[in-house]
Amino acid sequence: MSEVNPYQSLRTQIDEAAEYLPLSEGQLERLKTPERVLETNLSVEMDDGSIEVFRAYRSQFNGDRGPYKGGIRYHPQVSRDEVKALSGWMVYKTATSNIPLGGGKGGIVIDPNAYSEDELERVTRAFAKELTPLIGVDRDIPAPDVNTGQREMNWIKDTYETLENTTEPGVITGKDLSSGGSEGRVEATGRSTVVAAREAFEYLDKDLEHATVAIQGYGNAGWIAAKLIYGMGANVVAVSDSSGAIYNETSLDPVAVKEYKRETGSVAGYSEAERELTNEELLTLDVDLLIPAALENAIDESLADDISADVISEAANGPITPKADDVLSEKEILVIPDILANAGGVIVSYFEWVQNRQRFYWSKERVNEELDAMIVEQFQNLVDAYEAQDLPSFRTAAYVVALQRVMNASEQNGTWP
Ligand code: GLU
Repeated sequence: MSEVNPYQSLRTQIDEAAEYLPLSEGQLERLKTPERVLETNLSVEMDDGSIEVFRAYRSQFNGDRGPYKGGIRYHPQVSRDEVKALSGWMVYKTATSNIPLGGGKGGIVIDPNAYSEDELERVTRAFAKELTPLIGVDRDIPAPDVNTGQREMNWIKDTYETLENTTEPGVITGKDLSSGGSEGRVEATGRSTVVAAREAFEYLDKDLEHATVAIQGYGNAGWIAAKLIYGMGANVVAVSDSSGAIYNETSLDPVAVKEYKRETGSVAGYSEAERELTNEELLTLDVDLLIPAALENAIDESLADDISADVISEAANGPITPKADDVLSEKEILVIPDILANAGGVIVSYFEWVQNRQRFYWSKERVNEELDAMIVEQFQNLVDAYEAQDLPSFRTAAYVVALQRVMNASEQNGTWP
């Protein structure tokens, strides 16, 4: 994995798109810089009575189009710059999706596998207490991200509601159904990654039926993408997680692989695999579709040289460095950028927030249909911008569309004081 600073990557991506927009230097700097970042140190009692201190962040990048919105990740590699980058990607993701939200992101520097459930609950509630003055249904709405899910969201909601003496489920999304969550939210990130890939295949006049697919990462986004694309008739020839990668020329059965991972903790060693691969071998397989669904910087410029996929749909945030992007553009590999491909998560978070505010809940069919329609519409918007302005990549097209939307809102809001 490359050492590229993700916050620099975000700034480069914005600069590349800004060349096609009439922005002043000041406006551009504003669009590349977070409004504020909370850095806090959580002192938490461990099961043995000792105290441990955890560094945590929440970055509120831009709120011109609505409340800050974005997940909270638990990972030992969380850093201030990573959180800043992820919060910026949220701004341009909500803008590309055209939903009325801004962008934010949070994280705790922690390896959640090293702690008990009780300890994780205390860490989460300690962070929720720090967040309570900053978040709110119209202010900043957190959600799940890497290594967090319904359980953590329910704890944060409960802490917030207890401290504020209210019931306000829309203060956070990605909750369990019985705590005010939405149908379809768990599957949403993987679903949009696959719907976007379906649209890209149609655009290229390629058949998804029997197409070969490789997926890096078998967490919530990767495994759901595998299951859904397999259901659409594609062959999932390779998948991986942090323990290794597995390959089967005909296709792996994603549900059986998931079951195996649930039992053993990893995909490595799965008996129906013909052979095991390295992470690099998986990423450079000659497949029709590659889905990076792990972390940032999975594909750097030297790896990009060896990429043989025709289409890449980014389920992870920031998996391709800007220099790798240039290589892939030259090779005419169609990259569906994260800010569209994985936007399903935040789009269904938006649906969850709407349902929470109305206290009226939708069916799974309605959620999935509305999500599908939004991805189709915004994919078409990118194609239009890409073709009309002869832009170098779909990523630049997405940023051109998104920056314009944020700029328009910012201009209408005006500058105060
Ligand atoms: N963490 C997800 C993302 O990166 C979802 C954010 C949300 O639902 O607010 O897009």
